[in-house]
Amino acid sequence: MSQPRTRVVIIGGGPGGYEAALVAAQLGADVTVIEESGLGGSCVLSDCVPSKTLIATASLMAAMEGTKDLGIRFDHDDAFAGGAADAPRIYARIRDLARAQSADVAARVAREGVRVINARGRLARPGVVAVGDTELTADTVLIATGAHPRELPGVVPDGERLLTNRQLYDLPELPSELIVVGSGVTGAEFASGFQALGSQVTLVSSREHVLPHEDADAAMVVEGVFRRRGMTVLSKSRAVSASRTADGVEVSLEDGRTVRGSHCLLTVGMVPSTEGIGLAESGVAVDERGFIMVDRVSRTFAPGVYAAGDCTGVWMLASVAAMQGRIAMWHSLGEAVQPLRLQHVAATIFTEPEIATVGVSQQDVDSGKVLARAVMLPLATNARAKMDGFSDGFVKLFVRRNSGIVLGGVIVAPRASELILGVSLAVEQQLTVDEIAHTFAVYPSLTGSITEAARQLMQPVDDGSR
Ligand SMILES: Cc1cc2nc3c(=O)[nH]c(=O)nc-3n(C[C@H](O)[C@H](O)[C@H](O)COP(=O)(O)OP(=O)(O)OC[C@H]3O[C@@H](n4cnc5c(N)ncnc54)[C@H](O)[C@@H]3O)c2cc1C
Repeated sequence: MSQPRTRVVIIGGGPGGYEAALVAAQLGADVTVIEESGLGGSCVLSDCVPSKTLIATASLMAAMEGTKDLGIRFDHDDAFAGGAADAPRIYARIRDLARAQSADVAARVAREGVRVINARGRLARPGVVAVGDTELTADTVLIATGAHPRELPGVVPDGERLLTNRQLYDLPELPSELIVVGSGVTGAEFASGFQALGSQVTLVSSREHVLPHEDADAAMVVEGVFRRRGMTVLSKSRAVSASRTADGVEVSLEDGRTVRGSHCLLTVGMVPSTEGIGLAESGVAVDERGFIMVDRVSRTFAPGVYAAGDCTGVWMLASVAAMQGRIAMWHSLGEAVQPLRLQHVAATIFTEPEIATVGVSQQDVDSGKVLARAVMLPLATNARAKMDGFSDGFVKLFVRRNSGIVLGGVIVAPRASELILGVSLAVEQQLTVDEIAHTFAVYPSLTGSITEAARQLMQPVDDGSR
């Protein structure tokens, strides 16, 4: 007699949910995904994919700015001057691409035999998920409901002038004077992108520098580029309110100043989508900010109920959400599983230039938490960077003091998101600087600076410590 199939019900079809569904289906489970918007989730439909699509156009525009220096003459000299972005076409492309990506995800899960219910789901009790009046029983439930943009108290985004990142792509035009409130990753990315597209951008930062939680050297490079390209960066300026004026917006700062512009984009954090879905009633604990509490194999406090992705607040990245979802399924379906390791997550901030990081941080080293040596090589002296016509950026490597094992790195460069893989591999495989130094890099190439950094770190310092 064959064993009955394990029933898995997943609430939320973003990377946390759909990647889990694929693993569970592969392992023979009977899988249902309940998704109220569209497969791919906010990641595909409103957040990650749309923003990176906008930034793809913006990067090309930024690259075009340097074409004169590379010896290219256009018949119409101002072909790439500000204002050349065709905003309706850019937004239409973004919406089309997001829909197409969502359809690809839907087709993939359908091929694997996953059932999808387009509705809102809630946990009725452990082992039972309610969709309207219907109750679905499950051996395993995964909650992957994501998060949504936080709003400033008293400011209601209207989708016309006062905007969250999810309302940008329905605008009829490019914001001429965009005020971005918040200088974290999302704020910095949009400020960079819209500036390259031709908006006059003011970035309102409550902190001394933009990207306060990132590598300080990297943040300084990016802030320097922002200012040089004409962005107004208001540091130590906390926005307390934003409102519409007759023809635009006005943002009030804590110190009494006001900033005026055509549009205001609020990027002041994300709130977990965990309210009204029956968590407390089912014994699923949330922290004081509403994030679901999970262990490293994605278990909540309720038996048989797992959670993955932004609703857990572990690290708001699509890759982390997907890994948490897969781990939940491997664990619940009895497979060997390695608990989530955040030390090796590669992440990128898609500004111009990009900042890519992996492994330990400068802060870990400076605070003495990790005993490491570091080297930082500016890309200004890299031959390929010169040929490509840029000078803002660097490669930084952290290696264990005596053994020389690579512990982490930071790359600031165009397409740093692609370049970081070599460092990620080194961290994951515990390669030493000697091994990197003996690896061939192409000449000329930006990755040549990674092997050069490793060469500079080759001699271990024998100071008696480990
Ligand atoms: C502007 C922006 C840019 C980003 N860029 C990147 C990037 O470049 N790289 C990166 O790795 N990450 C990026 N992120 C983060 C990334 O988007 C998230 O980490 C990722 O979406 C998390 O996936 P998730 O599955 O947890 O949630 P989501 O993608 O938010 O999906 C959750 C889904 O659950 C559904 N849902 C919620 N409640 C219910 C319910 N009760 N019933 C049914 N369905 C429900 C929602 O409709 C949604 O579709 C970005 C985020 C933002 C805001």
